[in-house]
Amino acid sequence: MINGDRQWQSHMEMARIGSTPAGGVCRLALSDEDKESRDLFVQWAEQAGCAVRVDRAGNIFARRPGMDGNLPPVMTGSHLDTQPLGGRFDGAYGVLAGLEVIRSLNDDGLETRAPIDVVVWTDEEGCRFTSKTMGSMVFTGMVSESIVYDVSDPDGKTFGDELKRIGYAGSEPCGGYPIKAYFEAHIEQGPLLEQAGIPVGAVIGAQGQRCFIITVTGEEGHAGTLPMDQRKDSFLGVARMTVAINRAAFKFQPVPVATIAHVQVRPNSRNTIAGETKFTIDSRHPDAEILSALEEEMLGACKSIAEEMGLAIDVERTSVAPPVSFDPILIDSVRNSAEKLGIPHMDMFSAAGHDACKLAAVAPTAMIFVPCENGISHNELENATPEDLAAGTEVLYAVVLEAANS
Ligand SMILES: [Zn+2]
Repeated sequence: MINGDRQWQSHMEMARIGSTPAGGVCRLALSDEDKESRDLFVQWAEQAGCAVRVDRAGNIFARRPGMDGNLPPVMTGSHLDTQPLGGRFDGAYGVLAGLEVIRSLNDDGLETRAPIDVVVWTDEEGCRFTSKTMGSMVFTGMVSESIVYDVSDPDGKTFGDELKRIGYAGSEPCGGYPIKAYFEAHIEQGPLLEQAGIPVGAVIGAQGQRCFIITVTGEEGHAGTLPMDQRKDSFLGVARMTVAINRAAFKFQPVPVATIAHVQVRPNSRNTIAGETKFTIDSRHPDAEILSALEEEMLGACKSIAEEMGLAIDVERTSVAPPVSFDPILIDSVRNSAEKLGIPHMDMFSAAGHDACKLAAVAPTAMIFVPCENGISHNELENATPEDLAAGTEVLYAVVLEAANS
């Protein structure tokens, strides 16, 4: 059994570090506030009997030893950095839920076979330096330490210097060792759990993303003199393509999203027919096959509209992030544990990126989502109830215990 009140109190104490007048939190990665929150976590972890290590990317590992020190650790955690106008729960929840698992195991006098590491990943948010999930990307070997050390913030301060300044440039090499299982508890950051009235989401994966720049070329012409039936209006073509892309996304519902939100018209003059229109498509879905089918449907529709209207079309794929599938055995463990605890749960995908999406490349991984009020996140208004947080942590406790003893 976990102690929901204790968890909530720790949460509220952590939320005071970098608190904003509107009730949010500003703890930018590697800032003084980040240092203060890390120091508090380390203090709490040591009080709970953990040995704390820090790696060269500043990731913190608080270990509760297992009976067999040779077994790979079970890991759980998240991040303590926030957006500039962030909330109290994004990231901090996963770290404090991990800490509560350790405290509860201590209360219950339970030993586990494998050690348990509660992790704080460095710079998940990616809003101060250049990229999201820096710490977990270095840990999983997706980016090198030296590249990350050299990136700088808008004031020209480098990641490496700031990490040293706050005292978290550790000596341990980043990753490269086996991990038995990685669990991350997180607020959903979307509205689905709250709308369903269900406190726990068993996250089965995270959606992939494909982005495109489409350039449609017609002919400029005089807005007053060129008859309607003789025009090659690239913007009209793009307007029709926008509707077709939206329809394509609806065809594959319930999950996929396709967004056109950046359009450049040339010459962008109110009385010249648009000769060239460029626009972006951002499409996302958790299943690579459906993402491909959606891509085919969207681009096929654009091409046939272009053909019909006598327009040229050029398609450039600008980014491809494959969907992430979490570990079926760990997902089952989340479902079954919730079931045994009598906690209503549902399967869901993560619509946002998390450290867990990176860890999935090197370890069996699963996530546990809990609702947040009105689905609001990356916002000072971000809120969650003590009861929902406790329900998520209760499930985390069960799955960590199971993985550490299996
Ligand atoms: Zn987060």
